[in-house]
Amino acid sequence: MKGNFPLDKLKNIQTPFYFYDTGLLRNTIHAAKSAANKYNYHIHYAVKANANPRILSIIRENGFGIDCVSGGEIQAALNAGFPAGKIVFAGVGKADWEINLALDASIACFNVESIPEMEVIHSLAKAKGKTASIALRINPEINAHTHHHITTGLKENKFGINLDCLDTTLDKLETLSHVKLTGLHFHIGSQLTDLEPFMALCSRVNDIQKQLLKRKIIVDIINFGGGLGIDYEHPDRNPIPDFQAYFEVFYKHFPAYPHQQIHFEPGRSIVGQSGSLISKVLYVKEGSSKNFVILDAGFTELIRPAFYEAYHKIENLSSGEQPETYDVVGPICESSDCFARQIDLNKTQRGDYIAIRSAGAYGEIMASQYNCRRLPAAYFSDLL
Ligand SMILES: *Cc1c(COP(=O)(O)O)cnc(C)c1O
Repeated sequence: MKGNFPLDKLKNIQTPFYFYDTGLLRNTIHAAKSAANKYNYHIHYAVKANANPRILSIIRENGFGIDCVSGGEIQAALNAGFPAGKIVFAGVGKADWEINLALDASIACFNVESIPEMEVIHSLAKAKGKTASIALRINPEINAHTHHHITTGLKENKFGINLDCLDTTLDKLETLSHVKLTGLHFHIGSQLTDLEPFMALCSRVNDIQKQLLKRKIIVDIINFGGGLGIDYEHPDRNPIPDFQAYFEVFYKHFPAYPHQQIHFEPGRSIVGQSGSLISKVLYVKEGSSKNFVILDAGFTELIRPAFYEAYHKIENLSSGEQPETYDVVGPICESSDCFARQIDLNKTQRGDYIAIRSAGAYGEIMASQYNCRRLPAAYFSDLL
């Protein structure tokens, strides 16, 4: 089955472009929200997955908070109308101007990833006569079993405070008057389709809580980050991730203290399936060993296949002919500009419309102007 695309309307638009199924986006948001509400869990959408202003405003309307990893993202969140009290700020390298922007806006929390960062936040807050709420991002040393470019919770990764530095960090924290510890933060990686690493994370956090209790510390907030994966192989069969099963893992394996808030930061799982990259076939180049479909979209519009060796389902929206085997490539002058090798597509010709599915997360936002290309525009199913 091919996804539901209004081809007659899409044909009037200059390709390549992003097309968002707003109905699916809303259904996904509602599914996440009702599953989280069941356990009184809080969601901060990870804006780095997709910062399209209309998508942000739909997410904001549904009451989610927002997880930012740069000053630009904080600005995008504020522009989309997110209240400062629902903004959290993570990231291993926060520049002074970004910290000052967050302090001036009075965001909810800085997720702090090192002792020197904590000291800088303290001194910038002190200079403004403010106290910054912080959560310590702890590297839980859990293997997320995902692609090595998107695993973050291993000791060798740059993210978070190592477990063996936790006590030193807390000692230091006690000497800083303008930062206040409100939470613990974790994020083990992205595109996790197996829930087992999340169970391991729960038991690690239980242990850390025990360690903190020895120092008489109970934090207000435990933030488990994001990482829930989507089904790139079957976007039509599984358009909405199983948020229910995901949250249940934490409910079963993580006994929170009374009044402790549990936060999550899903990105991909909220927006991934609702976006597609729509492209037109420029040429079909037939060779003796293989045939190439050359698109007008390249890794400048969707870098995931080139960057993470990611799979995206590709469909020819114009052809119902017998399938043939092709390499699907873009026009960029790099050999890595290839969306898929040796895949079956209905027999393809110049001018056919191609949908690259499940491109709503880490797609439009990662677009570049390499080769002096234009950034892709975005269109929405309910506004065509
Ligand atoms: C990237 C990121 C997320 C979102 O990850 P997804 O896999 O898209 O859900 C959440 N929290 C932090 C700190 C991140 O860096």
